[in-house]
Amino acid sequence: PIEIDGLGRSFGPVHALRDVTLTVAPGEIVALLGPSGSGKSTLLRICAGLEEPTSGDLRFGAVSQLGVAPHRRDVSMVFQHFALYPHLTALENLTLALRHGRGLPKAAAVARARETLDMLGIGELAARRPAKMSGGQRQRVAIGRALATRARVILLDEPMSGLDAQLRVDLRVEIVGLLRRLGTTALFVTHDQAEAMAVGDRVAVLSGGRLQQIGTPDEIYDRPATRFVAAFIGSPP
Ligand code: ATP
Ligand code: MG
Repeated sequence: PIEIDGLGRSFGPVHALRDVTLTVAPGEIVALLGPSGSGKSTLLRICAGLEEPTSGDLRFGAVSQLGVAPHRRDVSMVFQHFALYPHLTALENLTLALRHGRGLPKAAAVARARETLDMLGIGELAARRPAKMSGGQRQRVAIGRALATRARVILLDEPMSGLDAQLRVDLRVEIVGLLRRLGTTALFVTHDQAEAMAVGDRVAVLSGGRLQQIGTPDEIYDRPATRFVAAFIGSPP
């Protein structure tokens, strides 16, 4: 499991996260829901090792990850703004992550990358650079890059931002299907309540850096713990 234990993070006077505690079970998908500035990306970046907390602990299994370098953690992240290498093709974006991030030999990296692009229905884009792809195609490549590593934990930071409504729904169904098939544990960040409810086995609601509530979509909707949650989810009063 991922154990987020009393995590806090300040940037000078700004408390991006305050005393956040939650556990994600193996194979579980938890949607992190909250408005802009609520601390979602900061929490993901701490899980990925791109940021250190100012208080609290983070454990994978029983092992504290504090001070463990990003590439030594069994995680892979899809960034809010794709973060693909523009000068590399789709295939090269994936193989780079596999060879340098995971230490796979070239032939194995290429085979895994091709298999993953095919899984996402974009095998024909292998030789194309990001500038010549649509937003949805780019996003698939970014998701493919994370899934190709077969990391046990995947962190998705608003992976559908900027896509139109229909594409969002299609891609989200596919991502969830792939995560389930691979048995991946996932934290899925979104500020869209319908998306959180559809994707998450449980939904964690953040506001002002505090965890307001965590529960199944039904629990959150039927029994919101705070006024903020009720208003944000749109539960009936
Ligand atoms: P969004 O939905 O807009 O992406 P978010 O929920 O991901 O928002 P964060 O990016 O985690 O929010 O930011 C939480 C708070 O921490 C914000 O007030 C933000 O300004 C602040 N913050 C985040 N990173 C830094 C940083 N490197 N330096 C200073 N302040 C930061
Ligand atoms: Mg963010």
